[in-house]
Amino acid sequence: KEVLEAKSEQYETVVRVAAGIAHEIRNPLTSIKGFLQLMLSNEKGENQYSGIIFSELARIETIVNEFMLLAKPESEKALVDTNVVEIVQYAVSLFRHQIKQQNVQVEKVIDSDIPNINSDPKRLNQVFINLVKNSLEAMEDGGELLVSAYYDKDEQSLVFKVQDSGKGIEKEQLERIGEPFFTTKEKGTGLGIMVTTKFVESLGGSLHYDSEVGKGTTATVTLPKYMR
Ligand code: ADP
Ligand code: MG
Repeated sequence: KEVLEAKSEQYETVVRVAAGIAHEIRNPLTSIKGFLQLMLSNEKGENQYSGIIFSELARIETIVNEFMLLAKPESEKALVDTNVVEIVQYAVSLFRHQIKQQNVQVEKVIDSDIPNINSDPKRLNQVFINLVKNSLEAMEDGGELLVSAYYDKDEQSLVFKVQDSGKGIEKEQLERIGEPFFTTKEKGTGLGIMVTTKFVESLGGSLHYDSEVGKGTTATVTLPKYMR
């Protein structure tokens, strides 16, 4: 328990400091990008370095945005009547080009008796976008994405699974998943699951991972019908 408390304190500190820095970085970043674009359009146009500069700027932008999301206070949570199934469908649809490009087969098994819940659609959007994104990044050479959803009457909870047939996660890595900056990707930020976990928990739910190396990964999001 003490370890857990120390961990959560450590987490809070990381988030607070980083969010402050992220906020300060955002404005100069936007201005650098804008002026760079102007410079390139006024002068000789693109050169061999501009692509690199833009992709590195995009990377900083991703990190900054993820930290800003993380630092969103509880008070910004906006609870409304929410159709989570629609949100899941939307998240998948956002990636249709990548899905096609990577030759990923998508299957959906979604029960028809899933109730709407009082929740925050913006946070849930981010949650499912992060999960689908991770699944696709684990299936660069194609595979299958299975999105399923059902209502557990006994538990009065909604269960959503994002399952992929991707590379999977090693046991030692599975324990570290969601730790700030833990990534195995060259261009990863290691912040996605941290944001996802925080958002799901702020909505009274939980996030669970099952994975087998070489077989694939299942992320399970459980949301209560009634938030306690
Ligand atoms: P990032 O995607 O930037 O690396 P995340 O927090 O989203 O950060 O994920 C952390 C790590 O968890 C990833 O680098 C990857 O190793 C692992 N991971 C997450 N989801 C999956 C998945 N569906 N399949 C395989 N590995 C995954
Ligand atoms: Mg990610």
